[in-house]
Amino acid sequence: MNGRSLLHAAAAAALMVAARTALSADEPIGIAVDAREAPKRIFHVVETMPAAEGPLALAYPKWIPGEHSPAGPITDLVGLKISRDGRPVAWKRVPTDMWGFTCEVPAGRGPLELAYDYVAPLTSQTTATPRLMILNWWSVILYPRGPNDDATVFAPSLQLPQGWKDATSLRGAREEGGRIAFAPVSLVTLIDSPVLAGAHTNTVDLTPGQKPGHWLHLAGESAASVAIGPEDVAHYKRLVAEAFALFGTRHYDEYHFLVALTDHLPSNGLEHHESSDNRAAERAFIDEYAREVMGSLLSHEYVHSWNGKYRRPEGLVSGVSADYQPPVDSSLLWVYEGLTEYYGDVLAARCGIRTPELDRENLAIVAAQMDAQAGRSWRPLEDTAVSAQLLYWARPEWANWRRGVDFYPESELVWLEADTLIREKSGGKKSLDDFAKAFYGPPGGGPVKTYRFEDVVAALGAVTPYDWAAFFRTRISDVALRAPLGGIENGGWKLVYNDVQPELTRAAEEESRLYDFWFSLGIAVQGERDGDSDDGVIRDVVPDRPAAAAGIAPGMRLVAVNGRRYSARILREALAAAHAGGGPIELLVENVDEFRTYSVRYDGGERFPHLERNPSKTDRVSVIGRPLTSEKP
Ligand SMILES: [Zn+2]
Repeated sequence: MNGRSLLHAAAAAALMVAARTALSADEPIGIAVDAREAPKRIFHVVETMPAAEGPLALAYPKWIPGEHSPAGPITDLVGLKISRDGRPVAWKRVPTDMWGFTCEVPAGRGPLELAYDYVAPLTSQTTATPRLMILNWWSVILYPRGPNDDATVFAPSLQLPQGWKDATSLRGAREEGGRIAFAPVSLVTLIDSPVLAGAHTNTVDLTPGQKPGHWLHLAGESAASVAIGPEDVAHYKRLVAEAFALFGTRHYDEYHFLVALTDHLPSNGLEHHESSDNRAAERAFIDEYAREVMGSLLSHEYVHSWNGKYRRPEGLVSGVSADYQPPVDSSLLWVYEGLTEYYGDVLAARCGIRTPELDRENLAIVAAQMDAQAGRSWRPLEDTAVSAQLLYWARPEWANWRRGVDFYPESELVWLEADTLIREKSGGKKSLDDFAKAFYGPPGGGPVKTYRFEDVVAALGAVTPYDWAAFFRTRISDVALRAPLGGIENGGWKLVYNDVQPELTRAAEEESRLYDFWFSLGIAVQGERDGDSDDGVIRDVVPDRPAAAAGIAPGMRLVAVNGRRYSARILREALAAAHAGGGPIELLVENVDEFRTYSVRYDGGERFPHLERNPSKTDRVSVIGRPLTSEKP
């Protein structure tokens, strides 16, 4: 089966001729989204579905590609009415499948008409603020289930609020009575092709006159937010060049970076074959701290076009088979996401998005955080991948003991170790880049290629003979009390702690207002944000560190420090005073309706992770971050 995006009208038309489904699919299914009320976060949808008389099973996508979980927001699909030739058709939800519907299609001339709304929370993947929106078609679509799902073709159209402009990898857009009509595409391609739109937009051509073309599309909360400067543009132009140098080919015909710049939606990224849906702070191209927090977001999602879309684990076939209802097996997410995390950061360094100093800071923070995960004593890294569908939605409380989606950051350390090993064993002649080119590279195009663990091991072995199966077993499948720090050490650096706050930690605090006392007291404390009353709430603790040892637990709220009203600054001063010999730190803490003072014995002062050069080893970390192309960042 060909899961490659079928993007051109000609290809879609050929496919339609080939398809003879039970639904007489000579004609595509029309899906018209009216987003004129997007600022109210309501999307009106009408589908016109050619349908033969008889029973019909409909599905709303449940397992969403890239979300690795049954995240299809079915609760917010409302107002469903089905009709044919103006006469209502009764529908029923499948009692054992909340994402499934059935109806009996009556005889008639016209297509079946499905009308419904999607009402979106700000946290949804399809959502809007008063000035911008992101449409992911899987949140607004019902599709016929059947043996020929792969051949289901949709003719999408979209109506935007007055004056808004759109950006998408969908082709063939034309104006049609106030609507944008796109060329018909397969269900797979439609679900893989989000639309970004807004009142304030800007598009930058990253590869003028070249094929394939690459565009950076910004939609922001203000005109100022989308006015990207020449230095940022230069970085993203180099990102495209560096990725090509790394993989040696591309598997897309066009690539569109879609970036929503807003403080009202959670920062996030979702990968697609020919685009990525990125959400960052409103001032991500204005303020240094916001730019640093955005960091490798776009490079990560871009790497997914090779690792995740062109090639993906056998268990993650949702979106290849065009049936989004069966559960997925996400146990190889340490490759799908972990290697993407690694190369997203490596490319960010190679193209200048991150300086070498910030690249090392990032590695130090990742390594220290993973090393401090108490849950490593019971949960192997692999189980965080297997449990991704739970952990993506887990609350922050007790995340340290539960573990989170550690298959992103910790796998990055494992892949760094693999890279340094290959470089060491080959005397610097080979690297993980050779694996990346062989596994994800030429020939370009072609259908989605799935892989298994054995394929990864074999491809690495072809670059450098080594017991890669055992290498991964001990680091991925076994319980390991310490984080895999071998890559940092073999890369010429040591993980150390001192009282200097890393720039990236300061930037993260500035954006999230989550204050980091993680490696000192062992707590993360929420600061005041717009419109909430979470100031002082302890989001999580590291068991056995001083605060937890004194009796403090996640969900409690810091009220006062040594008799003064809590603020992050007051707590920092108390740490310094204790370090200077001032005795225990007295924390007045609210737990539900009880107030209690805890005496915390800790005099180590503030403590943050850093990498320190080990001159006895080759500095491979810096070599890895050097550009492959001649253009210097
Ligand atoms: Zn990812």
